[in-house]
Amino acid sequence: MRKGLSNTRTEQFFTQSRRTIYNNKYNSKRSATNNNKNKSFYVNAAKASSGGKFVVGGNWKCNGSIESIEKLCATLNSGKITADVEIICAPPMVYIDRVQSKLKPPYQVAAQNCWVGKGGAFTGEVSAEMLKDANIPWVILGHSERRSLCGETNEFVGLKTKYALDTGVKVVACIGESLAQREAGNTLKVCFAQLQAIADCVSEKDWDNIIIAYEPVWAIGTGKVATPEQAQDVHAGVRKWMSENVSAVVASKVRIQYGGSVNAGNCDELAQKPDIDGFLVGGASLDGDAFVKICNSAAHSK
Ligand code: PEP
Repeated sequence: MRKGLSNTRTEQFFTQSRRTIYNNKYNSKRSATNNNKNKSFYVNAAKASSGGKFVVGGNWKCNGSIESIEKLCATLNSGKITADVEIICAPPMVYIDRVQSKLKPPYQVAAQNCWVGKGGAFTGEVSAEMLKDANIPWVILGHSERRSLCGETNEFVGLKTKYALDTGVKVVACIGESLAQREAGNTLKVCFAQLQAIADCVSEKDWDNIIIAYEPVWAIGTGKVATPEQAQDVHAGVRKWMSENVSAVVASKVRIQYGGSVNAGNCDELAQKPDIDGFLVGGASLDGDAFVKICNSAAHSK
């Protein structure tokens, strides 16, 4: 009986999701037709990068304690943000409320994950409705650690993205290839499949509330940062894909963060690359002074 109940709920959920996907496939076909009118976009654009504000995220992952997090908030609040930059910190869920009440503008907060649909009997999960209710404006979805450790598929990340956006929570959507995939020459293929799964679920308008975070898995937490050229190549490829598969307007506006061992020493050079519109930072975001320095690298953005 339990099984029957849960199957019914799952079926209802996927029927609804499939309907959304159908509608969006229709919309993306329409966009593709419009794109043909904009084919000269890349040829003419001296700089393809988004017009949006440089945006730096701090992914605190499953780290910290009340004591260390309060210290980190104090360091961030006392650091001088001199650049024009949007900043989003993602503490562990249990500390978000505390962090939100401690951090001063321009710091905003994000959750590191949320559930794929409406809340209910999903032990251990947090729904997008709860994030909205708690005034948490952002959520990170599709982080490679959740893809690899929790089995989140491209389709699941697409559905989560749509649900969060429909609930009024903005999304940092992570994509990126493993070392084996890069070595096999499949970097862009992997990133495009991850993007397609999101594009299948969302409307063109939804992209206003999505930041793409390109995070090569081999660079996350390894100290092995992508070279500025490697990062720029993928970012440019992603923007081109967005232009061809969503719309030239979205491609010109969407912000693409680089993530993978960004630190206070390498951020300025990376920030200069034309298609890098910000960073998603793991390890170095736990060091307040380093994170402030990374945020201020926005001044080097071109
Ligand atoms: C991340 O986990 O999003 C990340 C980029 O981690 P790190 O900066 O530690 O490589």
